[in-house]
Amino acid sequence: MRTIGTTTTVPSEVLLAAGCTPVDLNNVFINHAYPDSLVNAAENAGFPQTCCTWIKGIFGACMEGQAEEVICVTTGDCSNTTMLMEVLRLKGIRALPFAYPDRPDGRLVYRQLKALATQLDTTMQAAARTHKALASCRRLLMELDRLTWEEGLVSGWENHLWLVSSSDFDGDAEDYQKRLRQFLLDCRKRHAHSEDIRLAYIGVPPIFARDMYRFVESQGARIVFNEVQRQFSMPHPCKSLSRQYTTYTYPYSMKERLEDILPELARRQVDGVIHYVQAFCHRGIGDIIIRDAVKLPLLTIEGNHDFVLTPNLRTKMEAFLDMLRRGRRWSYKVGDCMKGSSYGFGA
Ligand code: SF4
Repeated sequence: MRTIGTTTTVPSEVLLAAGCTPVDLNNVFINHAYPDSLVNAAENAGFPQTCCTWIKGIFGACMEGQAEEVICVTTGDCSNTTMLMEVLRLKGIRALPFAYPDRPDGRLVYRQLKALATQLDTTMQAAARTHKALASCRRLLMELDRLTWEEGLVSGWENHLWLVSSSDFDGDAEDYQKRLRQFLLDCRKRHAHSEDIRLAYIGVPPIFARDMYRFVESQGARIVFNEVQRQFSMPHPCKSLSRQYTTYTYPYSMKERLEDILPELARRQVDGVIHYVQAFCHRGIGDIIIRDAVKLPLLTIEGNHDFVLTPNLRTKMEAFLDMLRRGRRWSYKVGDCMKGSSYGFGA
């Protein structure tokens, strides 16, 4: 199998149909024993300090020999990837572009998928067969997500980990599905989590993921919605491949993302929202739109190159959880006082 690195989620059905193994370089970077060393390698090669750490990590992973060929998503993900692609080519790596269209239009998506299939010497018919073959794995991912928010049997970290790794199925879709099936069987034997605060996490996956989820749960709260990670799993079953990549909200505008986020916040009965932004990322500006649209308490946190939560962030998160608890107590009190009043604050 030919291994191809990717800079974000690309339509893995096309890669698999072409006999390639997709490897999400973000996962390689963040699971590396020494992720710092990859960032240092990028900075030594000339990447500015004011460049996103994920981009530097991807470059470092390529320089370490993790991918000789890379699909760079030039539209619908990151404004830095076009330049990253040019630098990778300079370093002798075969870098191929892939662009999501600027809007989720089925015909435009089909055209881009076909162009990718042609680049990789496969066909849309073959990709459609792979799409069908992956359907059962994607259904299991949806069940994992349901067990997280509806039955409380899966932790926020586990939810993150399985969903985020569905971007490349850990390099082996068959094995991934087998392990996931077993994981779900094991989960069903557990006792449900009993957190008093339910949180949503929106934004790109955090650079300090392991520490953040552990910290949230150590504080008696739990993340029951991981927005972008869930999108990587393609949570809306579709008959056609191009339709699937029109329902995938991450590459498109904030409007599409919010159409996914807002109903999920209500469905999952979330108390508060954490919006993560990565330092030097253009997506951070979207915080303005998110704050305008989300009518729940919202905490924006920024990560840069620390792979664990800084003391400052811990304090911020603790204060946020405290505020949610106090707010809840306060609203119960108001509810009790106003029971039966003409203001309609019934219990
Ligand atoms: S966090 Fe933002 S800047 Fe960094 S790779 Fe992702 S989209 Fe690009």
